[in-house]
Amino acid sequence: MANVQVAVRVRPLNKRETKEGGRIIVEVDDKVAKIRNLKVDDRPDSFGDSREKVVAFSFDYCYWSVNPEDPQYASQDVVFQDLGTEVLSGAARGYNICLFAYGQTGSGKTYTMLGTPASVGLTPRICEYFSFFFFSKSNCVAFLSFSFLEIYNERVRDLLKQSNQKKSYTLRVREHPEMGPYVEGLSQHVVTNYKQVIQLLEEGIANRITAATHVHEASSRSHAIFTIHYTQAILENNLPSEIASKINLVDLAGSEKADPSYCKDRITEGANINKSLVTLGIVISTLGIGLGSMIAKYMFSSGCFVFMNLLHNSFFFHIYIYKSTANTGGDSGIPVSPGTSSRGGSSQRQSYIPYRDSVLTWLLKDSLGGNSKTIMVATVSPAHTSYSETMSTLRYASNAKNIINKPRVNEDANV
Ligand code: ADP
Repeated sequence: MANVQVAVRVRPLNKRETKEGGRIIVEVDDKVAKIRNLKVDDRPDSFGDSREKVVAFSFDYCYWSVNPEDPQYASQDVVFQDLGTEVLSGAARGYNICLFAYGQTGSGKTYTMLGTPASVGLTPRICEYFSFFFFSKSNCVAFLSFSFLEIYNERVRDLLKQSNQKKSYTLRVREHPEMGPYVEGLSQHVVTNYKQVIQLLEEGIANRITAATHVHEASSRSHAIFTIHYTQAILENNLPSEIASKINLVDLAGSEKADPSYCKDRITEGANINKSLVTLGIVISTLGIGLGSMIAKYMFSSGCFVFMNLLHNSFFFHIYIYKSTANTGGDSGIPVSPGTSSRGGSSQRQSYIPYRDSVLTWLLKDSLGGNSKTIMVATVSPAHTSYSETMSTLRYASNAKNIINKPRVNEDANV
């Protein structure tokens, strides 16, 4: 059993925020992130107000990446030393790993996951270690292969096999009884050196961008999953065995796409709400809060798609319901027992986890309460103008900490 590890990263003020006189309302103190509500502070009658003005959240890691001059500044390397090495050591031991970045558009998800040419992020660094160090073990032969996909409007596209752009979002998700969910027809690319890895990564990133009519809009609405399959064939005392690890590195769509206040006027259009993100929120809440799971079970079984903005208020739920346009099949949930996958609830009743209600959660099923070590990086802006989004992200991240996974070594002895 292992809890989802959660990190928070605070980026610098951007140009717009600086121009608008953005005030920094987030601070980090070791493993605690604090957010200040200026609205309460600034109220003329707030003197003597006993309401809480600063809310503190504790996480496994908190990264202050606001100003390189600050002593606690967390560079890309610092983030890699914690999270990247955790991924690598888990993979080397044969665990499935998922590392995903969550946050509003412009908060630093892509910067953290991919980085820039001048400031390389987690994915290329992880790939570099894989290709340089993991091929060179004395008693083992290692194989590395990659796939790279994008989920956009609940459709899956292979970023490493370009066909006709219009017809490219056609891949289907299926579920193997033992191996779990997978994308049918997704190309797998075997690599033998770092150069090949980086070429694939660059090709996928370029395909993600060139397919978008409105680049920013599309990248803020799509999810990208870069998957590394790492297999080690080991010979020890003349006994052969095989260890396999699947590593999902995920750059999610902007979290505002799951916020009802952001798109409440357009709720019937559906397109403006990111169903995968909404379902991810429900899955995380359901796994993290036993009570949520019971409500989700009731609502989903009545054939409705439920939007729960649990994360804005973790107890008095804010519930939106609209008719499901699910294309992921009717059997949309996996019953699990609370207490094995969730901390919440002592009830003997089974919880309902609606993994199959979105492509993203279906594909990441193992990473959320299953056979995986999972790390979430929540990225936030430090500016007062992003107070609501940052607060929402911190609550979401705090909820994710409660998810308990059951990672196991994927070993096949005496193959
Ligand atoms: P997102 O993927 O969440 O939409 P990006 O990663 O594209 O956001 O970041 C938005 C902008 O902020 C980019 O120009 C990026 O380089 C910059 N940025 C984000 N995080 C950091 C950081 N930790 N340090 C420096 N610049 C950052």
